[in-house]
Amino acid sequence: MIKTYFTITSILFITSLGWFPDLNAEVNKTEEVAPGVYFHEGDVGRRGHCNNGWIVFKDFVLVVDANFPSGAKEVIPKIRAITDKPIRFAFDTHHHGDHAYGNQVWFENGATIVAHEGALMEMKKYETGLFGSVPGRWEDTAKNREDVANSKLKPPTLLFRNEMIFDDGQHRVELLHFGTAHTRGDGFAWLPKEKILFTGDACVNGPYNYTGDGNITAWEKTLLIAQKLGATTICPGHGPSGDGTVLADQILFFNSLMAEVKKLVNEGKTEAQVKESIDAIKASLKKQDRLQRYVGSFFLDQVTQAYREITGTTGDKKKTASLPHKPTDRSTVIGRLE
Ligand SMILES: [Zn+2]
Repeated sequence: MIKTYFTITSILFITSLGWFPDLNAEVNKTEEVAPGVYFHEGDVGRRGHCNNGWIVFKDFVLVVDANFPSGAKEVIPKIRAITDKPIRFAFDTHHHGDHAYGNQVWFENGATIVAHEGALMEMKKYETGLFGSVPGRWEDTAKNREDVANSKLKPPTLLFRNEMIFDDGQHRVELLHFGTAHTRGDGFAWLPKEKILFTGDACVNGPYNYTGDGNITAWEKTLLIAQKLGATTICPGHGPSGDGTVLADQILFFNSLMAEVKKLVNEGKTEAQVKESIDAIKASLKKQDRLQRYVGSFFLDQVTQAYREITGTTGDKKKTASLPHKPTDRSTVIGRLE
């Protein structure tokens, strides 16, 4: 099994080194999940890329996720190999670099950038000094990624609050927001005819759950709402596509993680003691075959986040505060978006 590693400036803003396995050999291949609907699994391990989707409407192409600039440049020729229709919209499922830093590339190719309004709010807060605040993750990432250094951050300009619908009689794509999950501005792309759901990082298929910008409790609730759509094909933010069990497994992972940590909290364990029990928690989750692939290098952060949510403590904020933005007015954001 090939293993590769991320740096701090890499896609998920991890604060420790993480090792992700290549889960299958389908990375960088275009998959037609339904007529005119495509899924492309990005190379997260080596290049930090997210997955992409695109839907070929009668008159234009809608792309799901902007990826990093290098990811956008990887995917554009693959779209062009299928259709010469204009790429008119690129939808950021959330504000993170691996999903939104390629916006400028799509813009230069004629696209308008679409996102839930929370994605723009979080982008302003965390990603950049563009809006007059201190430099953020974009500027940090640019120090280590040439593709980012050679581009610029293009924020989304076409925003939706609850939903935005594209329908030309042939294809219907509903961009939906169900509340806080991976971030406070997550959007899903739902294709009701084909029962295909593009989830962004609200649902992943592998050990990619970064919980530092979201809320696990709200996340699980949001996924349960998304599950009611009845998708039969899940196109996740990272990892291979699959059937509805991908979403079910993602929900079970958070549910089981919270249950394990709750057990320890009820026994009166402190945060430090819970962290000491990490191997036991891991072993317990891994007993369920369906959860094994979710347990990876973010596990300690996930357990810590779970502990803090359950106990209502904030802990040492250093991990997220290594990003130079103050986590001050977040409660207002949560109030508006949850
Ligand atoms: Zn991602």
